[in-house]
Amino acid sequence: PVVLGIETSCDETGVGIVRGQTLLANVIASSMDEHARYGGVVPEVAARAHLEAMNPTLQAALDEAGIGLDEIDAIAVTSGPGLSGALMVGVGAAKALSVATGKPLYAVNHLVGHVGADVLAADSLEYPTIALLVSGGHTSLLLVRDLVGDVELLGETIDDAAGEAFDKVARVLGLPYPGGPQIDRVAVGGDPKAIHFPRGLMHAKDAEKHRYDFSFSGLKTAVARWVERAGDAGDEIPVADVAASFREAVVDVLLTKAFRACADHGIPRLLLGGGVVANARVREVAAERAAAQGVTLRIPPLSLCTDNGAMIAALGAQLITAGHRPSGLGFGADSTLPVTEIQVDERPF
Ligand code: ATP
Ligand code: MG
Ligand code: FE
Repeated sequence: PVVLGIETSCDETGVGIVRGQTLLANVIASSMDEHARYGGVVPEVAARAHLEAMNPTLQAALDEAGIGLDEIDAIAVTSGPGLSGALMVGVGAAKALSVATGKPLYAVNHLVGHVGADVLAADSLEYPTIALLVSGGHTSLLLVRDLVGDVELLGETIDDAAGEAFDKVARVLGLPYPGGPQIDRVAVGGDPKAIHFPRGLMHAKDAEKHRYDFSFSGLKTAVARWVERAGDAGDEIPVADVAASFREAVVDVLLTKAFRACADHGIPRLLLGGGVVANARVREVAAERAAAQGVTLRIPPLSLCTDNGAMIAALGAQLITAGHRPSGLGFGADSTLPVTEIQVDERPF
């Protein structure tokens, strides 16, 4: 089926179009620059930006795919999780489009969409698979037995998301937003072993209860204290070493837990998604550990890793192919939609 997907959960207005597992268009308008002066995404600003970007992005996606609205079989939209005001813009647009065109509507889960994106990049994904999704808003470890039927949350962050930690630490180092790419840039030439920063929830006392959970707020505070102390002592801050050591701590925790999940569950497959996957060290260490542990690693191209509409369209197409019925119009934006709810408000037979 030809499916148009709409994504507005955070600061990207994304409209994508797929035909089955083939990508036809993926257009993204980001309001990231507008959030830079605040050092993080401001919900009100994001929602307003979605309103302005929605129609032009929709038209640009149709143009890119070279098709008209009449050639679309269905519409898919992110219902949650994400920022309420931001989600509402996409949900409203998708409902209006569905009513106006008479095309069926599928309301889907953003996180599961990140997993669904992978089929657009490569051959079909094999299940079960472990998936690690890391961005500015989420850090989640999933066990996906069936993309359209059975997704389990193994663990998630209990405080800051990993991308958020990158953004906050960059700020401490006087680097601009978004911090991830900046940390990557200045870490080149730094010694990742120069400073030993804490690895959250890795120690024996939390090992069992939080076996697959993450915590990055202690790490962020530790870096801030270290930099402050060095400043008080009148030392020049070794920015490259701090950045490399911080990055190493994040990457170590993320991948230790992801590969642990693969080993525990006997699943030799790991999929990575989310903006933090752009990180050079994440990619390097993931490849090393995958080879050592005999795990097949899948990392979609970055345009499909960060928030986008094509992944929502791809999930919608897979729901249709699997025989799911469309959603009604009763659903709304659900900022805390659990990952187990792959599709919401599916109409009864
Ligand atoms: P959501 O959480 O809803 O997916 P988001 O806008 O935070 O929304 P993305 O746009 O996928 O998600 O990711 C942005 C985050 O990724 C930012 O926190 C940014 O710092 C981080 N990031 C981007 N590039 C890198 C990098 N090279 N290294 C580490 N983090 C990075
Ligand atoms: Mg974003
Ligand atoms: Fe996301």
